[in-house]
Amino acid sequence: MSETTRHSYDVVVIGAGGAGLRAAIEAREQGKKTAVISKSLFGKAHTVMAEGGAAASLGNVNSSDDWQTHFRDTIRGGKFMNNPRMAELHAQESPQRILELEYWGALFDRTSEGRISQRNFGGHEYPRLAHVGDRTGLEMIRTLQQRVVQLQQADAAEYGHPEAMLRVFAETTITELLLEGEPGQEGSCIAGAFGYVRETGDLLVFEAPAVVLATGGIGRSFKVTSNSWEYTGDGHALALRAGATLLNMEFVQFHPTGMVWPPSVKGILVTESVRGDGGVLRNSEGRRFMFDYVPDVFRDHYAQTEDEADGWYADPANNRRPPELLPRDEVARAINNEVKQGRGSPHGGVFLDVSTRLPAEEIMRRLPSMHHQFKELADVDITAGPMEVGPTCHYVMGGVEVDPDTGASTVPGLFASGEVAGGMHGSNRLGGNSLSDLLVFGRRCGLGAASYLDGLGDERPATDAEVIDRLSREAAAPFERESGENPYQLQQEIQQTMNDLVGIIRRGNEIEQALESLEKLRERIAGVRAEGDTIYNPGWHLSLDLRNMLLVSEAVAKAALEREESRGGHTRDDFPQMSAEWRRVNLVVSLREGGIRLNRRPLDPLRPDLMELFDREELGKYLTEEELPPAERSDG
Ligand code: FAD
Repeated sequence: MSETTRHSYDVVVIGAGGAGLRAAIEAREQGKKTAVISKSLFGKAHTVMAEGGAAASLGNVNSSDDWQTHFRDTIRGGKFMNNPRMAELHAQESPQRILELEYWGALFDRTSEGRISQRNFGGHEYPRLAHVGDRTGLEMIRTLQQRVVQLQQADAAEYGHPEAMLRVFAETTITELLLEGEPGQEGSCIAGAFGYVRETGDLLVFEAPAVVLATGGIGRSFKVTSNSWEYTGDGHALALRAGATLLNMEFVQFHPTGMVWPPSVKGILVTESVRGDGGVLRNSEGRRFMFDYVPDVFRDHYAQTEDEADGWYADPANNRRPPELLPRDEVARAINNEVKQGRGSPHGGVFLDVSTRLPAEEIMRRLPSMHHQFKELADVDITAGPMEVGPTCHYVMGGVEVDPDTGASTVPGLFASGEVAGGMHGSNRLGGNSLSDLLVFGRRCGLGAASYLDGLGDERPATDAEVIDRLSREAAAPFERESGENPYQLQQEIQQTMNDLVGIIRRGNEIEQALESLEKLRERIAGVRAEGDTIYNPGWHLSLDLRNMLLVSEAVAKAALEREESRGGHTRDDFPQMSAEWRRVNLVVSLREGGIRLNRRPLDPLRPDLMELFDREELGKYLTEEELPPAERSDG
């Protein structure tokens, strides 16, 4: 293999989606020399694919909205398993972050008074999603990239080179974090990152005392997913191998509406905006079935009849919300059940119809990408007829355990934000809360990394040269095996295992079966073989990604087996109820002596002032008797 090139930075940000770019901007603004690394092309990340919008209680469409209501909705959506401090910071700071984005040039859709328009989404009490048609992520990434360029132009004027203080390394994959010391050992800390350039296969060492993980999700471990090729759980796996901990990996969000037909596009997302803008779900009998699936905990907040649900769009003050806008976990399970009961659409989904609800020109205005997607990929005109949709693996709520205020992980020098970080969304994320999460915690991570560096003074941690040699040999190993397995076959087997046995509805014996299959796959992956050479070779790239997919899949399966209750993105057929005792338990994943370990750690309690945002009756549905505030006594 080629020589290894070395680079030296203060902060290395792995990931150039919303979280990574926001963190990098902040680190640079704090005066730190910063690198941003992205596995895909610059600008290609899940953030750019986000359609519906970013949730922030600006109160532009309904002035009753405020951060407390946003906080309450987020905690309800997460079924009271969110890290309360993260949910609080997110609700408080999202409006500022959206306005900052506008200040940097983002052109959001407008209300008739010229303010940033906001749309309805599942689980949000008020219209809250700042959006740009159904292409919000594109505008967000465009704006953040523009801000990067602006900073680079200022650096060009000051230092004579645009990349003097902020440089993007696109199509570069990080395969390992570098440490001073051994993972998990007292005193070990981050010293940088190791990776390769996808186009050439050239190896790179980044020396840096602070690394921010912003690598997004893990969806490629499942067969049917809205996630694209690069989401092999790299950040989660890098963190584990560096000695950091992950939280609650069992919570995986299956979005209720992915395309189901044709097979080549199965899993591609159908935005929740379709339902937010009036779309309804029907089964093969024409029944609007979501009315049959409103759980007790939400019964008071959702309409009981079609008339009331329809009335809500025009008069939300006097009607309750349609059940199509329940949180995603509820809608996904309902669709799954309708199909299982034989009331599905011809291709194994249900019908989502907006054509009978909005005039064609309005659909074209509000949902142009959806119209284009169905016309191009399925030859369906959504202005004239229904779409066929079904659940698709979409988002992971579990992730790196971080300090809410700074994004610091349990390894000094390692930070995480965005989808790769855990805690914020509890057991289920509300739509729109990811884009705002990226901005709020991306910025906080940039600040956290900068202040960590300030605390280090002139010290620079370093990695042993032998470690670099070993990583170089490991990268080359798939070429050196005379025989070995095809990486695509192994990937397909991981995906099938996770889809079939650790999917939307889980059973203990099936998860055990999955763990046995993954164990066998571990040996096979250790002998994976790549053909050809290092010049743009996706088979080789995948052969290096596989161990991340496997590790993350094991973490999800082990945590799913351990949690004996059903909550949010974790449904156990054999433990169908939510348990107030289990709610108090964070499952903490670590890697010890080569294997995944699970520990139970108490969830941070809700502060009394935040608890007051809920009435006691609602709290009683989630909390143990011991956690509940004292009942008010009446004098009479
Ligand atoms: P991403 O935007 O996913 O970026 C990850 C970055 O990490 C990429 O640059 C990738 O190349 C890089 N990377 C990964 N591994 C490595 C590695 N080993 N080395 C180097 N780089 C690496 N959320 C909302 O709030 N509202 C929405 O409307 C919405 N719509 C969505 C629609 C779709 C189709 C999808 C898939 C998701 C949607 N989401 C939405 C979720 C949201 O987009 C994501 O959760 C969010 O964008 C994640 O942002 P991120 O910055 O954490 O990571």
